[in-house]
Amino acid sequence: MSDFLKTQLEYVKGMGPDRAELMATELGIRTAGQLLEHFPFRYVDRSQLHRISEIGKTAQYVQLKGVLGPISTEGTGRKMRMRSYLRDETGQIELIWFKGIKWLKESLKPGQIYLAYGKTGVFNRILNIAHPELELANEQAAQSGFIQPVYSSTEKLNKRGLSSKGIEKSIKDLLSRPDFAVEENLPDYVREDLKLISRRQAYKQIHQPQSTTSLMHAQRRIKFEELFFIQLELLMKKNLRTAVVRGFVLPEIGEYFDRFYHEHLPFELTGAQKRVLKEIRADMRSGHQMNRLLQGDVGSGKTIVAALTALMAIDNAFQSAVMAPTEILANQHFESFSEMFDSLGLRVELLTGSTKKAKRKEIFQGIEDGSIHVLIGTHALLEPTVKFKNLGVAIVDEQHRFGVAQRARMWKKNAIPPHVLVMTATPIPRTLAMTLYGDLEVSIIDELPPGRKPIDTMQFSDAGRLRIFGFMEDQIKRGRQVYVVYPLIEESSTLDLKDLMDGYESLSRRFPKPDFQISIVHGKMKPADKEFEMNRFAKGETQILVATTVIEVGVNVPNASVMVIESAQRFGLSQLHQLRGRVGRGAEKSYCLLVADDKLSADGRKRLQTMCDTNDGFRIAEVDLELRGPGDMMGTQQSGMLDLKLADLAQDSKVLQFARNTALTMLDEDPNLDMDKNAVVKKWAEKTILKKPNWSLIS
Ligand code: ADP
Ligand code: MG
Repeated sequence: MSDFLKTQLEYVKGMGPDRAELMATELGIRTAGQLLEHFPFRYVDRSQLHRISEIGKTAQYVQLKGVLGPISTEGTGRKMRMRSYLRDETGQIELIWFKGIKWLKESLKPGQIYLAYGKTGVFNRILNIAHPELELANEQAAQSGFIQPVYSSTEKLNKRGLSSKGIEKSIKDLLSRPDFAVEENLPDYVREDLKLISRRQAYKQIHQPQSTTSLMHAQRRIKFEELFFIQLELLMKKNLRTAVVRGFVLPEIGEYFDRFYHEHLPFELTGAQKRVLKEIRADMRSGHQMNRLLQGDVGSGKTIVAALTALMAIDNAFQSAVMAPTEILANQHFESFSEMFDSLGLRVELLTGSTKKAKRKEIFQGIEDGSIHVLIGTHALLEPTVKFKNLGVAIVDEQHRFGVAQRARMWKKNAIPPHVLVMTATPIPRTLAMTLYGDLEVSIIDELPPGRKPIDTMQFSDAGRLRIFGFMEDQIKRGRQVYVVYPLIEESSTLDLKDLMDGYESLSRRFPKPDFQISIVHGKMKPADKEFEMNRFAKGETQILVATTVIEVGVNVPNASVMVIESAQRFGLSQLHQLRGRVGRGAEKSYCLLVADDKLSADGRKRLQTMCDTNDGFRIAEVDLELRGPGDMMGTQQSGMLDLKLADLAQDSKVLQFARNTALTMLDEDPNLDMDKNAVVKKWAEKTILKKPNWSLIS
């Protein structure tokens, strides 16, 4: 490879030392190669010409071709204005400038034919364009194409002449240099197969597209490459782990599993649950460490899968751990596991931040001597004082709330790491899952337990509150229970707390004691008080639970049939879906009532509409991804992985699928990329993937 790409930016035409330094501080660009990777963020189609007479009154970007009229100026100093007009065969439009007048006046040539581009406006009923881009028509025609790239720049760069236009000029010059070269990193056979243009062509066309078609080809090629190398990295990691990291072999289906399965299973497993259990079982006997993501919508029955997985380990004389993100959820798991396993004579314990000292000591003892079979808890399980005698499987619920780093820590606890089953109830769109969890095996429970009726979701404004109350009363009289949830953006927000208390008061007036009982739970309460109130509701002693989002995750009260969500527009889609998942867990028909302002943002409206339209968690996740973008969706801690230059996980699922398949096939046939035909990939991987620090950590 020539050193062309390594050329320091200051030696690139149009740069020089000062501008180069500014480019480095403002955009982090230091070399010619980096400048070439500063792709346009949009394009302006300048192949279209508008006729002046056809321009409407609403502002729009237009490109016009016509004769530039005479130039006049008025005012002085800051109030100085410069005017002219452009005339084509159909009419004329005013052009106006407020800045840079002196220079413009010298360079413009009235009477010549210009191409003008800009946003139209109306002032004093006269149509105009302020600060149009003007180019002599013959110069424009000499350009290679009419699709103009627009580059992101900054105010400081703008002032130094490095606006989008300035950047464009430098890049254009680089592209036309005789030593211009970029290294191809995809094999010919892959390119031919998928009809991908060369890297060299792609770089030329992405910056200076000749047509919309060639731009599309360039974008497709570059997106593919970007996604392909991410997939390649994930899959190489996975292969390496299977090759290097051994896992406990847990061959037996033994007494505990059998007894539980045949005598204590409270219901027949769904087909999906059975299939997933088979997948898990295969992992556990393989001799490799299991790293499996279990995705299943809220209420799809992941808990029982977790329980049976734990038993597989216990049958082979190993311990199991279940980790949950909140104390409430850990509690709930503890209760269901205790209930399920007591009759088997297994010891289940709970460890959280609020476990008392004496109990803690007892638990530490029991984990070390192996008398505790299942330890359930929050991230307290990850503390170094927790030493298992022989942890066989670690089950992590609601993975997205734990960072990936925590997952890694969990499996470093033993010399041979335990099998890991990660469960998530927030369906992750396939594209995102492939990128975030591409190094995990994925199991999906895509079937709800039988008899579930879809939850009816309706939207109300404040004015509908009387109807909501009436509906609640009707359901309570039928023996059902109701959640009323308020948003809590910050734990400390007093405003949110006031909303909640006001709501609680009006509910108390409408649903008075002793006929009705209401529980209230919020973040300001002590854990013990929270638990007390939740328990009253879970036991059916109260009919209404007023709460902030603390109930979002995992609470299971099958008798609850109504979920009222206040200020629903303030919740994100996945949160709304999680909340709605709290109802519809029993056999009764369930309802979700969304209360929202009349005035909604476009996104807010789309969110609520989506909720009313569908119960499908995956569909909801797709819309969420569209609305929010992948970074926001997964929280900042993981967005680094999603820092893509060009590809967009919401838009480019097809390309991603191709990229993943290509990487899979390639590594299947040639795991170490030793074949000649894959040499370019190997070379590229050595430069980009294998030099990363986390890589050597694993290997
Ligand atoms: P989630 O996947 O959200 O964790 P749970 O495991 O809490 O779901 O299950 C939701 C409800 O469905 C629970 O009440 C559980 O007992 C019930 N359930 C799970 N699997 C089945 C099944 N195969 N048949 C009937 N009910 C089931
Ligand atoms: Mg659950």
